Amino acid sequence: MADLVIILKPLGTTDEVARVVERAESLGYRPASVRLWGQAIVVVTGDVAPDHQQQLASGSAVAQAISICTPYKLASRQLKGERTVVRAGSMTVGGNQIAVIAGPCAVENRQQTLATAEAVRAAGATGLRGGAFKPRTSPYCFQGLKEEGLRVLAAAREQTGLPVVTEVLSTEDLPLVARYADVLQIGARNMQNFPLLEAAGASGKPVLLKRGPAATLDELLLAAEYVLKTGNEQVILCERGIRTFETHTRFTLALASVPWLRERTHLPVIVDPSHGTGERSLVAPMAAAAVAAGADGVMVEIHPQPESALCDGNQSLDFEQFRQMMQLCRSVAAAVGRGIGDDAGEETQSELTCSLSECDGSPSREPEQRHEHPKFLARRNQIAAPITQ
Ligand code: PEP
Ligand code: MN
Repeated sequence: MADLVIILKPLGTTDEVARVVERAESLGYRPASVRLWGQAIVVVTGDVAPDHQQQLASGSAVAQAISICTPYKLASRQLKGERTVVRAGSMTVGGNQIAVIAGPCAVENRQQTLATAEAVRAAGATGLRGGAFKPRTSPYCFQGLKEEGLRVLAAAREQTGLPVVTEVLSTEDLPLVARYADVLQIGARNMQNFPLLEAAGASGKPVLLKRGPAATLDELLLAAEYVLKTGNEQVILCERGIRTFETHTRFTLALASVPWLRERTHLPVIVDPSHGTGERSLVAPMAAAAVAAGADGVMVEIHPQPESALCDGNQSLDFEQFRQMMQLCRSVAAAVGRGIGDDAGEETQSELTCSLSECDGSPSREPEQRHEHPKFLARRNQIAAPITQ
């Protein structure tokens, strides 16, 4: 016996969904219905008896009924074999091109964040990270610039075209953070904050869900299920390391979770080697290892002067170290048949900055001027082409 997931025909009406739900209820189950990928889906849990399975699968509005044994249903590859591609501005996560989300641990001030955004974009990042609301272990540590930080992130997006990934700590802050963010990050500590997962899902924004340091992979997928159940299909999973007996690294970066998850879920999986190791020298090798393991993206912390960072300096790369990391990851990505980051990044930078007669051709043009450049604008406004895999 197993749970049953019923997919209605693409044009299934609300009435037809209601009839399937009612039939399941009359048989003693507590079904949940959701609209995802343009189709209505009814999830019937509670070990559906074989004769009930037949009855539920036989309605004229039913396209397909699948029994799924895993506790997560909507996140399962059994339900959707095709990989989900999450889109946020010009960034895609889950296609053949590996996403690179880079930026400071925390937004500290305008200059630090804008300089970092420019540097990571130039090196080929596809998304900008930066915390405005920071979950800190000690209440005496820097807690983030809050709304002012969000405004700085918006300015950095305006300047570089990079979509903004930023953490939301609570349901109260969610409307504010969602106004500025392109992707809502749910941090490791909040992975099982169920009201927050539901509110983030309901916002309609893409959600980047980090694995809790003591969470199993089934628990991670069930947390993703909370978001999917709101009808939001834009979920990115992030492996960021778990707590083990090992103390030489900040966490233990469980890279086997990448192929494990990709076998079981259609959702994109990215890796955060910064929090996963806690140590600068380990970030690039583990980013490359993540790419080799099949990750759909990496998320890394970058700071103009890591030694003076207000948060997580030990694990932050400076600009040159990030460029080197990108080079290493590009070779590994090529070896596994994928591209990484924005190909119009570093290597084509000079071409990007000038071909117009009124431009001076210098790659060091001021960011304000550069972002008006037609080529740059074209890339900034680029709508990602559909990816099929
Ligand atoms: C972060 O990415 O800024 C962060 C706080 O990470 P985590 O939730 O994984 O600890
Ligand atoms: Mn951090």
